[in-house]
Amino acid sequence: MLKIAIQKSGRLYDDSIKLLKECGIELNNGNKQLKAVAFNFPLEVYFLRDDDIPQYIFDGVADIGIVGENVLLEKNKDIDIVYRLGFGRCRLSLAVPKAMQYQSIHDLEGLKIATSYSNILQQYLSSHQVNAEIHEISGSVEIAPGIGLADVICDLVSSGSTLFTNGLKEAEVILQSEAVLAATKDFSEEKKLILEKLLLRINAVKTAKNNKYILLNAPNHQLKNIFSLLPGMKSPTVVSLVEEGWSSVQSVVNENDFWEVIEKLKQFEAEGIIVIPIEKMIV
Ligand code: ATP
Ligand code: MG
Repeated sequence: MLKIAIQKSGRLYDDSIKLLKECGIELNNGNKQLKAVAFNFPLEVYFLRDDDIPQYIFDGVADIGIVGENVLLEKNKDIDIVYRLGFGRCRLSLAVPKAMQYQSIHDLEGLKIATSYSNILQQYLSSHQVNAEIHEISGSVEIAPGIGLADVICDLVSSGSTLFTNGLKEAEVILQSEAVLAATKDFSEEKKLILEKLLLRINAVKTAKNNKYILLNAPNHQLKNIFSLLPGMKSPTVVSLVEEGWSSVQSVVNENDFWEVIEKLKQFEAEGIIVIPIEKMIV
């Protein structure tokens, strides 16, 4: 059985459970359990604090885990990232009091910086030849300047509203982060096969999310133009309409260039455009 560690509660919990569910993996996870076994996949799930996940993987207690890249880099264990999951996005930033005239990282020379990410911060400061006093604290970093514990902070930011309400402004982005699937370097053949199965499912779920199924009608003289916009998985499907000179086209379109493609399709006289979400996609 493959053992996966996920966050017990917190920002990554819901998305981690949702991902397993979308992969067709059902858990009997009554609350407050340390571990759960999947009914229908050879997977055992451990619920842990996110800070502990890299160590558990490194020690071989868990084979894989879902954890923020920020935590993984801070803990600096010799484990691999096998999939970038696209949720839990945030950045690790330096933030300074609003009133400070911040110009460059060198303005932090000699200051006191509060953070939970002292390793990443130390590396960043050293790479810019800045000497500052790092004050490691484990939570509520944003209040440190307000209570006189530090001059500035280095913390995770997503919307920036926490900084704002604490009278701080973002000065420098050190790292962009998202949740990743991390894995030990040391797998048995059997476990490797289970991981491959799991990755196939994760990839099917993620690829499906990034794509939409699209159906439209178009005059035949525009089909070549339309195919160039909608290459599809292998190639688009075309069916003749009863109305002469017209066809129905079915294909797949990527979420990222979706609106741009739609605008161009309209220029190529496409009409009756229908867009449908895809549940799973195995390419
Ligand atoms: P635990 O009790 O497991 O130690 P925690 O309080 O350390 O939890 P959370 O606040 O739940 O951690 O955040 C977990 C992860 O979510 C972070 O390490 C980061 O990768 C990600 N994340 C995304 N957005 C944010 C944000 N705005 N602030 C903090 N973390 C964020
Ligand atoms: Mg934590």
